[in-house]
Amino acid sequence: MRFPDVFVPAGPLFKRVHVDERTRRAVPHPAHSDDVAREVSTTRRPTTTDTSRIASMFRLSTSPRVFARVCAPLRARRVRNCSTLAAFRQGEVAVIGAGVAGVACADALARRGIKVRLYDAGRNVGGRATTRIDGESGAVWDHGTRFVELATDESDDAWRVWVEANARRWRGDFVSIECASGSTDARVKRRDLGRMERFALNISMRTNEDVDVKSSSRVVGIERRGDVTTGETSFAVRYRSVVPGQGDEVMLDEGFEAVVLADKNLASERAASIYGERPPVEGLGEPELVRALSEIDSTPIIALMVTFNRPPAVNFVGAEIRGGDRLEWITDESSKPDRPNAHSCWVAHSTAAYARSKMSERELRTKVGTSSHQEWLNEVRDEMSDALLDVLRSAESDAASASSSSPPSIPLQITFKRAHRWGAAFPTTISPAAKSQGFLRFGDVYAVGDYCTEPLGTVRAATQSGRAAALDAAERLIARSSSHRSKL
Ligand SMILES: Cc1cc2nc3c(=O)[nH]c(=O)nc-3n(C[C@H](O)[C@H](O)[C@H](O)COP(=O)(O)OP(=O)(O)OC[C@H]3O[C@@H](n4cnc5c(N)ncnc54)[C@H](O)[C@@H]3O)c2cc1C
Repeated sequence: MRFPDVFVPAGPLFKRVHVDERTRRAVPHPAHSDDVAREVSTTRRPTTTDTSRIASMFRLSTSPRVFARVCAPLRARRVRNCSTLAAFRQGEVAVIGAGVAGVACADALARRGIKVRLYDAGRNVGGRATTRIDGESGAVWDHGTRFVELATDESDDAWRVWVEANARRWRGDFVSIECASGSTDARVKRRDLGRMERFALNISMRTNEDVDVKSSSRVVGIERRGDVTTGETSFAVRYRSVVPGQGDEVMLDEGFEAVVLADKNLASERAASIYGERPPVEGLGEPELVRALSEIDSTPIIALMVTFNRPPAVNFVGAEIRGGDRLEWITDESSKPDRPNAHSCWVAHSTAAYARSKMSERELRTKVGTSSHQEWLNEVRDEMSDALLDVLRSAESDAASASSSSPPSIPLQITFKRAHRWGAAFPTTISPAAKSQGFLRFGDVYAVGDYCTEPLGTVRAATQSGRAAALDAAERLIARSSSHRSKL
């Protein structure tokens, strides 16, 4: 079966879409939470004309005379795409990596009037919090992030607003399934969630409309330009398009005042070696930063996406598998809010041990998409599918005996299956250098991500890290602009 991905159009922040079951196209969801969008947009800076926007940012009069006087000296500055106004705004920031941390950072910067360019190697933003949609069948799976957790008495308002804007409450039971090693017997136990509620992310992640997003753009180099001793420095970003057939040309953007590294793999020798290149951060001349990022180790995970011939007759929407050799978590994706329910879509995540052992069986320094990579994925997919069927059939019998009914007469079968390898699924430690503030900073170079703060390896950590760095960067850039202004 052909398996094209569907990527959906723009909207503020994350925009919920759904798949029209007749046309099988992803369309804006009729119930897109406009209320939440409105609530969020009230906290945004007003976007009127550039003049009044900039004037309000710097608390200036919009008088053309004052404006011309302030802007004139800045005309000489070398700023990319620089209209005088754009140059005056200063603080153009390059955010590299449009996962949750990069998106949260870009959004918070844009809300403070700072010009942001957000690069990602992927075709869409989201990183590990992403959704796969089969354009042919309309089947939908979150094959990375399963859910976001929020305590009912959560006091962090900014986090609650973020969750309410980007996710919907996912109702249903979560259980633990005990599997004796090597056995197909599973015992289902209800999990007490305490005061935690679970939310499913909206299907498509989007950025703030004021952010200039460059998707399908793999950054291959970041350089510092100018004189570090006088502080007159700027940054340049080199990137390649990853769209097939768009050539191998390296493109250059210059004149950034700050850079946010929103993926620790930008310093990784192993990640760069896949493309036969050097790590992009090398050109920054920041060995301490490279060391701090290289110290963070990660565990791999393999995600299995399936559809079934009928909905499994089980009484849970998500289960943690205990004692299993291959599987760690399974989720009923069709039970998430606003998902098309024509299919019974499930995701299974492997244990880290299984992913590691399968990855060490074969040297995987081949590019994703090569035939050897695909062959390996198919083998893993089949092994995980067998394990998933065992668990669900066993859980069906368990549910039937608990309700004194007989199990469904039609045997449960997988009708579609596909695997995805997350080489660096979860960081294993919080970066000691990032812990106190939630991000790393070396001059005007920031590093953010889910390895920077508690709870390690979660959407919450990534959001908080991105936002904390944005607040710090915005304060510094605005203070710098003010001091420029007072010298004029
Ligand atoms: C299988 C799995 C299940 C998970 N389940 C949960 C869960 O249930 N709940 C939860 O809270 N968290 C979960 N997580 C963790 C959560 O997904 C992450 O913590 C979060 O998404 C990390 O966001 P990030 O922005 O730090 O990094 P990422 O999402 O990894 O973003 C980094 C981005 O940088 C881009 N990039 C990298 N190199 C380049 C380059 N050279 N040029 C341009 N772009 C580049 C990548 O394409 C990527 O989009 C799960 C993760 C996985 C893998």
